[in-house]
Amino acid sequence: MSNFEDEWQENEPVATMPAPQAHATYHSREYRPSRGRGSFGGARGRGNDNNWRDRGNNSNSNGGGPSNRRNFQQNEGNKKNIMVPSNKVGRIIGKGGSKIRELETETDAKIKIGDSNGNETDVTLFGTPDAISKVEGLINGLTEDYNRPPPQDRHNDSANSGGSGDFLKQNESGVQVIDWDKLNAFYDEQQQSRWENLPPIIKDFYKEDPEVAAMPPAEVARWRRANNDIQVKRTFDDKPGLRPVPNPIITFEQAFQHYPEILDEIYKQGFKQPSPIQSQAWPILLRGEDLIGIAQTGTGKTLAFLLPALIHIDGQTIPRDQREGPTVLIMAPTRELALQIDKEVSKYQYRGIKSVCLYGGGDRKEQIKVVSKGVDIVIATPGRLNDLVMARHLNIINFSYIVLDEADRMLDMGFEPQIRKSLFDVRPDRQTVMTSATWPAGVRRLAESYMKDPIQVNVGSLDLAAVHTVTQQLMFVDEDDKEKVLLEFLINMEPTDKVIIFCGKKATATHITTELCLKGIECQSLHGDRDQSDREAALGDMVDGTVNILVATDVASRGIDIKDLTHVINLDFPRHIEEYVHRVGRTGRAGKTGIALSFITRNDWAHARELIKILEEANQEIPDELETMAQRFEAMKLRREKEGGGGGRGGRGGRGGGRRDRW
Ligand code: AMP
Repeated sequence: MSNFEDEWQENEPVATMPAPQAHATYHSREYRPSRGRGSFGGARGRGNDNNWRDRGNNSNSNGGGPSNRRNFQQNEGNKKNIMVPSNKVGRIIGKGGSKIRELETETDAKIKIGDSNGNETDVTLFGTPDAISKVEGLINGLTEDYNRPPPQDRHNDSANSGGSGDFLKQNESGVQVIDWDKLNAFYDEQQQSRWENLPPIIKDFYKEDPEVAAMPPAEVARWRRANNDIQVKRTFDDKPGLRPVPNPIITFEQAFQHYPEILDEIYKQGFKQPSPIQSQAWPILLRGEDLIGIAQTGTGKTLAFLLPALIHIDGQTIPRDQREGPTVLIMAPTRELALQIDKEVSKYQYRGIKSVCLYGGGDRKEQIKVVSKGVDIVIATPGRLNDLVMARHLNIINFSYIVLDEADRMLDMGFEPQIRKSLFDVRPDRQTVMTSATWPAGVRRLAESYMKDPIQVNVGSLDLAAVHTVTQQLMFVDEDDKEKVLLEFLINMEPTDKVIIFCGKKATATHITTELCLKGIECQSLHGDRDQSDREAALGDMVDGTVNILVATDVASRGIDIKDLTHVINLDFPRHIEEYVHRVGRTGRAGKTGIALSFITRNDWAHARELIKILEEANQEIPDELETMAQRFEAMKLRREKEGGGGGRGGRGGRGGGRRDRW
């Protein structure tokens, strides 16, 4: 797994690393701070550096030495200082500044490496609060791994103590400094020997059905086109030694005829045929290859990675009860999704395989108890997983099949540091699966870091497909009239209607819920400020029909599967058009029809053109007002461009780029 093994080496350019004690300053490429031009101009012609090194009263460091990072933090709006152990600064910089550039491009933040006090180096982050928080998270991920306590089951400790004195050397000036080359080599050796002592992973369980093997390439291509237009290829270089992508299976039997108990479980569910992602993913996963599934919830992706996982668990050489720790890890971005996966997993009984769902807000003690009794599958949100791994309640060394579900969303939610931390000790020869609805740079980077020659399967979005079975209506209203119109709608609902009302902010969701309750309209609410148990109860009430109105933020826009949902109401239009697709896709599923009603105010004009495209694509009526809005917005952008002001995201009342309301 070369990418994985090389990663830290690449990030550790010893030559460019500021030596401890040195007064080293590294500048990223040009940065012009938004609140004043010209005071800092990158490596060349920089102005008054001291402006940017202004650390205020930042002496309130609570940190220890370099191994105890996370010291003071000073937040000044679009600038934040963090202290990083000097010995890890090289990782932020990268070879020739490559890493710092990558971090900046990825997050839109700017990074300045400042002075070192010996143990620690001052790093200043500039940008929007979002950008700063993102880049800080990435920096944490880059620097924190070496802070981990020594792994629980390190094997060779006695032979080579690795005491700190072993890794010191004298630099040209005769000062004693850490010999990073030696320390890195030692660390790599330790990891290597630790992994080498593990039993080999059995990965290939696939015996291709002769009919599948005999499918002519033209037939395979035709079949893929006809099934949600499946696209499949090696994600990165298709190296000569790699096997060609396997043909899809058309029937359940073609995938699992050698595993009759699995087939029985599928038959119990009454499914007619494999979903497109399953058809293509099962041969790849059963063959032991890494897979990236670009597919959304509702495509059958959970079963796509779950059934091969069951076979993988059962097929290893060491009996399950003698393994150190669980075998399969499934990471999901939210508690709701983790619980949904858990529910799906519990539908399939195979040879007594046990699972546990670990999520923040759930009963930690109980979760630890279940883990300690021994489980085979861990389904977890990144925060709680990391918490239990760090507290050593969970031994992750034996995870040999890992799923990062909805990777794009995990990154959106800022979980990259937790993912990186949690996976750091997992054996690199594991099988890794990643699902994602989209394929942005961050997800690509994760794939490069953690996967080996993955095969990528893209299937058309079911949410997008759902958009075709949903009647999409727009209502043009003033912001102040939204509540009144909503109330009229709810009063006139049929008793069999089931409605989600999407709000842009948690505060709006709370307000609407309160108003409805005061008016005697029963409803539930789902947003990030509610306790986990309340969120589960809210979903449960909707699913079982105790209530038929759910007021939610975008925490419910993807993934949540409420059968019989008849209406989606966008009280506030979403900030991103993708979110519109996901919200609308909550209804009109599984062959049913649905109605999406979106309230549009003049503030939403920036979305008009994108919305028109979606409506056109789904053969919906395009109201004249929407067309006019789109034209006005484009004219405004043009006008601003001519005036030299840039188009921007006008019409958002100056809110564009502001802090995003967290779910
Ligand atoms: P998922 O995309 O994993 O969230 O799955 C969405 C729903 O599709 C779940 O309720 C599954 O039980 C169901 N499902 C999975 N595979 C199939 C299949 N082959 N045919 C019909 N439904 C399926």
